[in-house]
Amino acid sequence: MAEKLIKPEELAQGIKHTTPGGDWRDEKTELKRGCFNYGAQPSSTKYLGLPNVRKWQPMHDDWQLPENWKEIIIKGLADRLKRFRSLQVFMDICVRCGACADKCHFYIGSGDPKNMPVMRAELLRSIYRNDFTAAGKILGSIAGGRKLTVDVIKEWFYYFYQCTECRRCSVFCPYGIDTAEITMIGRELLNLLGLDIDWISTPAANCFRTGNHLGVQPHGFKDSVDFAVDDLEENTGVRVEAPINKKGAEVLFVVPSADYFGDPHYFGFLGYLALFHEIGLDYTLSAFASEGGNFGLFHSNEMMKRLNGKIYAEAKRLGVKWIIGAECGHMWRVLHQYMDTMNGPADFLEVPRSPITGTVFENAKTTRMVHICEFTADLIKHNKIKLDPNRNNHWKTTFHDSCNTSRAMGLLDEPRYILNKVCNHFYEMPENTIREQTFCCGSGSGIGTDENLEMRMRGGLPRANAVKYVHEKHGVNLLSCICAIDKATLPPLLEYWVPGVEVAALHELVGNALVMTGEKDRTTDLRGQEFVNNGKEGSEDV
Ligand code: SF4
Ligand code: SF4
Repeated sequence: MAEKLIKPEELAQGIKHTTPGGDWRDEKTELKRGCFNYGAQPSSTKYLGLPNVRKWQPMHDDWQLPENWKEIIIKGLADRLKRFRSLQVFMDICVRCGACADKCHFYIGSGDPKNMPVMRAELLRSIYRNDFTAAGKILGSIAGGRKLTVDVIKEWFYYFYQCTECRRCSVFCPYGIDTAEITMIGRELLNLLGLDIDWISTPAANCFRTGNHLGVQPHGFKDSVDFAVDDLEENTGVRVEAPINKKGAEVLFVVPSADYFGDPHYFGFLGYLALFHEIGLDYTLSAFASEGGNFGLFHSNEMMKRLNGKIYAEAKRLGVKWIIGAECGHMWRVLHQYMDTMNGPADFLEVPRSPITGTVFENAKTTRMVHICEFTADLIKHNKIKLDPNRNNHWKTTFHDSCNTSRAMGLLDEPRYILNKVCNHFYEMPENTIREQTFCCGSGSGIGTDENLEMRMRGGLPRANAVKYVHEKHGVNLLSCICAIDKATLPPLLEYWVPGVEVAALHELVGNALVMTGEKDRTTDLRGQEFVNNGKEGSEDV
């Protein structure tokens, strides 16, 4: 259930960036309503075979930790320090220069010093120092250590779920410390105690059971796709085919489940179907790999590996040559940063080569998976599709770089190239808020819940401020993006901070502009909104 949210002006005025005196280690963290996520349903954690399944909630005093909880944590941390060299390095090399301190959207929007990336890491580092370093073992708190208590566990829970694993801080750290990796380990340790949150566990359990986060079964998936095909025909007059589980197709196309179930994602899904039909791509969807996203990334390395496996199992079963991935942020981080060593290499597939343009995607040599933006940009570059940007004249657009597609994998120019070809009005947000320095939506990494709404609005404030800038300066009324989580969480954020700006998939704009062979005289976009001046040239006013 949503917590009551104060007015935007009150929230903004209440943010103070002052450092309190005293030793932070003596302070007990108060778990503020509206700023944390509910505990997992036991049915989901049981289904996933996770440890210490029980009913518990963060707002209760007693979290019913297992008797040997301390031993579990210390053993879990020791194990991870041994397995992940990066963790050991990150624990040891921070010089507390403070370069990362004001770079986190949660610190900017909350003013809470424990949301400075350096401090978030210190929550774990203080335990590491105390129990794993010679100085800490002898000198304790003088060496920066602190004892592991139930209050520390509660503090971890609060702050490791106030980090969206966006990695913005790592861009500014002179030592390259990646706090997102520390958050991931912090969450893994909490999960060992059965402290999971529902917004991660239930989608992960659904994905494990039916192949997608929503728990949609194969026949439901087919119904949704059929519905989209009908819808697209109504809008364009063109009947497309959307093959499912077609053996021997050239390409497996994987989408995040929100694309065939939620708005505004769905309009992007219509755009993909129109595009693939127009170029005559031999592709298939899979009713089993019916999810590109991977909530395992927000839970643990083991869970991430488990859920990612289905994509490659399906590519093998269907005998495709390579894979195209749709607009999804964390799918790309999982695939490009972890896939090869977790599930791969996918050497049963071929190095992707566009059958339409002949382009070989050398960058996808190991993953064998191409992002839809790379694929579409290449089509446009080779003049393989006809576009009428005037059909997007009712939108003045800007672009939100998703943390995972931009910072994690460098997909910076292709979306902009596409946008400039499919619409006439594209305006960049300020330089230090885009590309590698992009600000997070504030609700990624599985924390986009209603009960966490206040923290989402706080965390999303820097992004919203940048949107507000182009809204006021250029009349921007549409924020386009290429991530399913962004499309779900940015609409309430903008409604709160910048009313009058909507959110769209990039391929919705492609679908609007795409001139299809045999189409009817189109008068509306894929949402059913009237084109300005019937989509003809010369219409500059919005
Ligand atoms: S990864 Fe992102 S959310 Fe987490 S501490 Fe760094 S900037 Fe903040
Ligand atoms: S920028 Fe890096 S070294 Fe400096 S305080 Fe932050 S994490 Fe530590």
